[in-house]
Amino acid sequence: MCQPIKPNQHKRPIRPPEKTHRAEGLHLSRRSLLQYSAIGLANLALAACAQRSATGAPKPSQSGGNSNNSVYAPILATVSAASLPSFAAFADQVKVMSDGTYYRIESNGLPTHPMMIGIRSWQQQVPLPQPFSGSNAFSIPIKPILAANPISARTALYRGAIALAVNGIPIFNALNNRGDDAYVFGELDDWGGHCGRADDYHYHTAPLHLQTYIGVGNPIAYALDGFPLYGLTEADGSQPVGLDEFNGHGDKDGSYHYHATTTYPYINGGMRGVVQVKDDQIEPQPAMTAIRAAQQPLRGATISNFKNVDINSYALEYTLNGKTNYVNYHFEADTYTFEFIDANGVRRIEVYKRKSR
Ligand SMILES: [Zn+2]
Ligand SMILES: [Zn+2]
Repeated sequence: MCQPIKPNQHKRPIRPPEKTHRAEGLHLSRRSLLQYSAIGLANLALAACAQRSATGAPKPSQSGGNSNNSVYAPILATVSAASLPSFAAFADQVKVMSDGTYYRIESNGLPTHPMMIGIRSWQQQVPLPQPFSGSNAFSIPIKPILAANPISARTALYRGAIALAVNGIPIFNALNNRGDDAYVFGELDDWGGHCGRADDYHYHTAPLHLQTYIGVGNPIAYALDGFPLYGLTEADGSQPVGLDEFNGHGDKDGSYHYHATTTYPYINGGMRGVVQVKDDQIEPQPAMTAIRAAQQPLRGATISNFKNVDINSYALEYTLNGKTNYVNYHFEADTYTFEFIDANGVRRIEVYKRKSR
């Protein structure tokens, strides 16, 4: 059942479309759908297969039938991220599982690379860990399907993530929730990210810097329709040819994938594959829960420094009217302590608790 895939054949479908496969909740004729296998994630399936053969075939279980509180009870044994070419480089940050329909990917939402520096339009939000685990993990379809009616991110999907980077950080629409190009408006740091109203760090452009760890031949992200997002070039370094309005294209093997670009749409320009959308947001995807009220934009503020000074401790500096201000914060279990020091040295402490989900 599990077909081995040679290295570097990551763009090939693993297996032909299964006759019994149907897109849940969609009533498109099977003939109108083309089914593809995700690129790097295919290797995860192989790892899962290996796990199954090693431990015996697990019994399929119904949602919620597990003692943990996940509604997506894994029916396959937990798969080590080390078995995936892209996720492997971030195995200490992401945990990959499968429930048979979706790859379920957990992370704490905090990248290990520097953050925040370079932001010229700051909303006063900072990166805090997010509970992207259990029933609140990310969901990537195991078997992506091209949609009969793709969704353009120019006019939709302004809420929530549209892709997941392989370091476990969500990627949002390149346009912010007001429809502005977040990069052009100076809202992003030098790594293409910033923090949302729940102090959730996410990218709006392609995290090409991840290629330092994974090389150019592996995906830097997966769109939430399951199709992979590659960097600016093909795996062999050649320029992508014939990108569609979604920044993607098919290849001779019958697969489809997206590419990053240095201009809009930067990332996948929408959903070329089948997804379910509710209130302009792809579902399922993790809920972002804020520990404090959403902050306001701070006009004229530029973030000049940001450091991870100790375990779970960060120090942010921003300049406003030529003077330096500081935000230091620390978190321990569910408690978040902020220290604000303004340009006059006035200090203020705020403490918040994250409510358990
Ligand atoms: Zn954002
Ligand atoms: Zn390509």
